Amino acid sequence: MFGRMNRRYDTVVVGGGPAGMGAALGALDAGAGKVLVLERDGEAGGILNQCIHAGFGLQYFREELTGPEYAERFLAQVIDRDIDVMPSSYVTGLAVDSEGTKQVRVLNERAGLASIEAASVVLAMGCRERTRGSIRIPGTRPAGVLTAGLAQKLVNQKGYLPGKRVAILGSGDIGLIMARRLTLEGAEVVGVFELMPYSNGLNRNVVQCLDDYDIPMHLSTTVVEIHGRDRLEAITVAPVDAHLQPQLDKARKVPCDTLLLSIGLIPDNELARQIGIQLDPVTGGPVVSSTLETSLPGVFACGNVLHVHDVVDYVTAESLRAGGFAGEWSREIRRPKDSIQLVPGNNVRYCVPHTLSPDREHTVFMRVKQRVEPARLRVGGLMEKTLRFVIPAEMISLKIQPEMLDRFHGDRLTIDIDPA
Ligand SMILES: Cc1cc2nc3c(=O)[nH]c(=O)nc-3n(C[C@H](O)[C@H](O)[C@H](O)COP(=O)(O)OP(=O)(O)OC[C@H]3O[C@@H](n4cnc5c(N)ncnc54)[C@H](O)[C@@H]3O)c2cc1C
Repeated sequence: MFGRMNRRYDTVVVGGGPAGMGAALGALDAGAGKVLVLERDGEAGGILNQCIHAGFGLQYFREELTGPEYAERFLAQVIDRDIDVMPSSYVTGLAVDSEGTKQVRVLNERAGLASIEAASVVLAMGCRERTRGSIRIPGTRPAGVLTAGLAQKLVNQKGYLPGKRVAILGSGDIGLIMARRLTLEGAEVVGVFELMPYSNGLNRNVVQCLDDYDIPMHLSTTVVEIHGRDRLEAITVAPVDAHLQPQLDKARKVPCDTLLLSIGLIPDNELARQIGIQLDPVTGGPVVSSTLETSLPGVFACGNVLHVHDVVDYVTAESLRAGGFAGEWSREIRRPKDSIQLVPGNNVRYCVPHTLSPDREHTVFMRVKQRVEPARLRVGGLMEKTLRFVIPAEMISLKIQPEMLDRFHGDRLTIDIDPA
């Protein structure tokens, strides 16, 4: 297959999840002639392939789909429109020659190492889960401690039940979804333990995955020790004080054979780091302009590799745009340079993109640091909007119109989200 492979593309997309497929379609729509998607797994679809629960596509398709159904709709379009998809192909590097042409280095299970030329590249590698090592839980190292996403893959794709009495640390969406999934598979979920005083998952998941199944969530609580020699036997949990320090005098032991970790996701940016693309320390993803272009000209980013998204519909909208700009780039269309820096102000953890241009409409995604109910969102002196509530787990999407930016004469536009 590699022998007959085209080695020169207009746009190459790294990663075949929803972001990668959306970017490929966007590039084609913008006039790129030959588009290639490189995917390290045996098939395209990304994280959606293991998410067999419903809840995808409510905004984009106005329908409730499962993850594989959502992926299938895009894959069908990708195949229909003759976009090349190369599975089992791991991108190991990217280089740019003196003419600005990108050389994408890829390792394929059958063909070995190959180099593919592209005028533009879209990074869509998704994210990975934080592990026990990233929060250093003390104790022994028995079997039975694993990330919630791995448990999801084992249950939904491999048909293995990782344990019978399960505790979950962290209230991210994957942990909440797995609490319900494992209960339905006959395991007992003894509780979800969350360090913060609020859940880190979507409200709808707290209700549908915990409350509906009488699974308790213990807020302001963490795991302080892991017990067991070969297999996990128990965990010790303790409430935390206002500085998030465990109160060990109030600690208690919880017997369990499995501990799932749902403690956050990290954009998978080794490739971007390796080639010196500028990263945002808050999002963990590349710093991008309003065309979703990274600091390396002609290299774009979208989806979870850019910033962790809560719903896939936003991933699709963002990746269609990123792909569109990458497609334009391959046709040598260059947009004017952005002139406005977007600055996260009061209670705003980050904004993406990082800069704006006054010549067109923009969609800005942001997350808050703290829950506020109700909230007032202010964009410089240009607009104000009241929101019913804002929470760190839910991304906020905001449209900024060119007429608004026409009235702005500075170069730094601050977004604040305060109590209303
Ligand atoms: C457990 C879970 C439950 C979710 N539930 C919902 C829900 O109910 N509703 C909803 O709307 N959203 C949900 N989401 C969110 C949504 O699924 C994600 O935001 C979305 O899948 C992210 O898309 P992506 O393409 O950026 O990343 P991914 O889906 O992770 O795709 C990235 C792809 O890139 C590939 N890749 C990585 N590195 C390389 C490389 N070097 N070379 C080649 N390929 C590479 C990976 O193999 C992967 O296929 C959920 C997410 C998770 C994790």
